[in-house]
Formats: sequence, C-alpha cells, structure tokens
Amino acid sequence: MKTIGHLELKTQRKPTLSHNVSESDWNDWRWQMRHRLKTLEDLEKHFLLTEEEVKGVDLATRGGTLPMAISPYFASLMHPTDPLCPLRRQGIPTAKEGVFNPADMHDPLGEERDSPTPHLVHRYPDRVLLLVTNNCAMFCRYCTRRRIVGRIGEAGLQELEPAFNYIEGKKSVRDVLISGGDPLTMSTEKLEQIIRRIREIKHVEIIRIGTRVPVTLPMRIDEQLTSMLKKYHPLWMSLHFTHPREITPQVEEACRRLADAGIPLGSQTVLLKGINDSPLIIKKLMHKLLTLRVRPYYLYQCDLAQGISHFQTRVETGLKIMESLRGHTSGYAVPTYVIDAPGGGGKIPIAPNYLVSYRNGRVVMRNYRGELYEYKEA
Ligand SMILES: *Cc1c(COP(=O)(O)O)cnc(C)c1O
Repeated sequence: MKTIGHLELKTQRKPTLSHNVSESDWNDWRWQMRHRLKTLEDLEKHFLLTEEEVKGVDLATRGGTLPMAISPYFASLMHPTDPLCPLRRQGIPTAKEGVFNPADMHDPLGEERDSPTPHLVHRYPDRVLLLVTNNCAMFCRYCTRRRIVGRIGEAGLQELEPAFNYIEGKKSVRDVLISGGDPLTMSTEKLEQIIRRIREIKHVEIIRIGTRVPVTLPMRIDEQLTSMLKKYHPLWMSLHFTHPREITPQVEEACRRLADAGIPLGSQTVLLKGINDSPLIIKKLMHKLLTLRVRPYYLYQCDLAQGISHFQTRVETGLKIMESLRGHTSGYAVPTYVIDAPGGGGKIPIAPNYLVSYRNGRVVMRNYRGELYEYKEA
C-alpha cells in the first residue's frame, strides 16, 4: 500500500495512477475508458480503503448494487487515504448501499410507466427523454437510474428506431433530451448517427445532451466531437457538476471547447450529504461554473433510489442553500431547486417563500434581507 502526501494530490496526475502511462495514453479518452477502476484489486493499488468501502466494493462487483467503474482521471482527483473526500465518496461504494430505506423505490421516477417504447420516456407534453446507453465514464454512487445503469451496453441504431418512430408520430415533441448512462461515452460516429436521425424529424426544434463526461472524462471533448456537434444546432448540453474540486484545468478546457462550439451549457447538481450540502460549497461551485460559461440549471433533492438514502439531505438544508444564494449573488448563479417527484410527477420547484401575503390586489413580499415590501396592483 502506497501512501501519498496530500500536496501531491493537487497535481492532476497522481504518480501511482499514471505510473507507466504515457502522456498520450492518459489524454486518450478511449484508454481512460478501457482502464476504468472496476475491481477491489484496481482500487487497492491506489487507495487505502476502509472496511466499509471494501464491503461496498464487494457488493457492487458481485452485482448486488450499481457496478463500480471510475476513470483513472477522476480517480486521480480522489484522496488516497481520506474516505470522506467528496470526490471519493461519489465513486467508491460503501456498505451503506446495501441498506434499503422503507421509502426507497426500484424506479423512483416512474420512468418505466411513462415509457411508450424501449429507450424512451415521455412525461411532459413537448419533450422526451431518450436513453441511448447504460454506460458512463464513472458510475456515481448516488445514481437515480441505478436499476439499469452499468448493466447492458449501448443501444444499436435499429434498437432505437421504435423511439424515433414514436417521436416522428408525435408532432407535439419539440425537444429531445439524449441521456443514459452517458451519451458521450459512445463513439462520435455513433452519436452523430443518432443526432442526425433526430434532426430528420422536422418538428423537433432543439436537441439536448445530458452528460457528466466533461467532468469525469474531460479529454473526451476533442475537436472531432465539437465539430460534429456544432453541425446540429440548436443543440444544448446539461452537464453534471457536484463539487468545486471537480473543476480542473482539463475540465475548464473541455467547457471552453463546448462553449466555443456555440453550445449553451447548463449544470445539474444533486445535493449530497457530506459532499456538497452547505451554502459555502454550493456557492463556490456556482461561481466557478459561471466562469466556465456554464449556467446552473437545477439543484436536485436526492431521489429515493434503492440504497442511496445515506446521501440524502433534509429539504430544509436545500431551502437554506437557496436562501443563501438568491439576492446574495448573481442571479445567473442561482439554480432552480427541484424534487423529481417519486412516482413520476416530474420536477417540482421547491423555493423559500418570499410571498408573505397576496390579498385584494396587495402583494406583501420579503426581500433577501428579510425586509418587507408591498406591491399594489392597479
Ligand atoms: C428531466 C426530464 C426532462 C427535461 O425536463 P426539463 O425541465 O425540461 O429540463 C424531460 N423528460 C423527463 C422524463 C425528465 O425526467
């Protein structure tokens, strides 16, 4: 077991992880995908694990929970000895994942019920969610789609055809959100085939891609990918950031390339106990995102997926965090806090209450400092 001083961690490449790896291999996203840490042995070469973690890894690798996979790049950002490291907690499983809370659900968002064809979820009137792969550069331990993620691979184009046909037949669908798993783990060629097929559907106005790859595998955002994507505008992207420590020079470069390709970037963040559930951490993250030209989009309350209740925060904590942002910092730095309603109700905004009373055309409000103001309707 090697131990590494904390200072060395600040350098991106931890010697043990990149030992005997050429610079060009390390920066090759396919090499990173092939060398993801997937077993206890892989981890033990680089981390001093706790008993809780060893049990968690055992459970995950034997198929008891979400499988484990961590890109060497992301693993290199994790603390080798501190089990409370916020990045480590996102990628290395613990025994707690084997504990199911009574409120936990197999399919917390009721996606299977709202699925008219395989790979498609149609919940809202004008937009659909297309799940094209179950693979990711890292399987986040708090994954809401853990019932399917990491299990079967990518959908073939033929397999997606019923979903494309469905969208073709639904004139109301003007927005297609490509997600998974992570669509950017697919080859650029394959992704282009999917996007091109969706672009053939005249009533689809915008295409969105949901991805965490710019954070967990930033070298994937290469010239070939961005020049392909920019042919299919208007195309938007929702990234997924959790903690300010995820923002490295490589991630900055990935976001710069995407933004320079004209892709509007949003970020979704899940509130996670002991990882980012404080006003200070969230505010720092939101500020950093704005410097990367990424607009905070949603702040999510942790879903009720099975075995992740140890990540759950109180809704009260989320409300406090929202209070600490609105008015105190740039409006662009304030995401919408939502609970994706268990059972398939969709995303519901949860906000601190600024409306004190509204009667007879008189609106009494409080501002971010708690001072009362009145607005009178004409
Ligand atoms: C989140 C989600 C969307 C997109 O919702 P927006 O609020 O438009 O970002 C669409 N369909 C499903 C099923 C979703 O879960």
